[in-house]
Amino acid sequence: MTQITVALTKGRILQETLPLLQAAGIAPLEDITRSRKLLFATNQAHIRLLILRGVDVPTYVQFGAADVGVAGKDTLLEHGGDGYYEPLDLGIAACRLMTASVAGAPPVEGRIIVATKYVNVARQFYARLGRQAEFIKLYGAMELAPILNLADEIVDIVDTGKTLAANGLEARDHIADISSRLIVNKIAMKTNYVSIQHILDALRKVVEGKQ
Ligand code: AMP
Repeated sequence: MTQITVALTKGRILQETLPLLQAAGIAPLEDITRSRKLLFATNQAHIRLLILRGVDVPTYVQFGAADVGVAGKDTLLEHGGDGYYEPLDLGIAACRLMTASVAGAPPVEGRIIVATKYVNVARQFYARLGRQAEFIKLYGAMELAPILNLADEIVDIVDTGKTLAANGLEARDHIADISSRLIVNKIAMKTNYVSIQHILDALRKVVEGKQ
């Protein structure tokens, strides 16, 4: 059988993906969370796992360096979706993509400054609202930006809202519901159809069984 490389998103999504893979019969041969390695063999000799930062997962899958990937919908929206299919919502790591600003602050009139790591998604969102906006790309700690007057609003993922509240912010507009998705390289879907369909079917059964 041809080798299938599955790219996983490290961190919170990985913690929730591993039990799904295990239930689908795919288990790494060593403890991923305790290793510094990035590539792992599994109990199925033709399947290997690659551990990446979330933002890199769609890129690896787009160019076929990985055949299959697991990434948050937020990351996929920002990436744009070129080169891969998104056949399965895994229903894990659920949260919302929201705008947020200083709690109680009046709405900004006119041009708004938005800090986010989701510049593409944010640009589309404010354009749809017909708002004039300027975007500042950040890679983390977005919650600080409105407090320190770097921006009027942020666009970020929100789960319980505790992080926003702890930093004096409040959620405003809902942009999208987020969960992790399985993605498949478009060419691999054709050339490795049987193996990939097998993985997809097994995961779909697990996900449907959990609903
Ligand atoms: P919370 O305080 O529960 O709203 O969580 C806020 C922070 O946790 C966010 O700013 C994210 O950095 C992170 N977070 C929450 N949910 C997720 C998720 N599903 N996937 C990845 N990161 C998340």
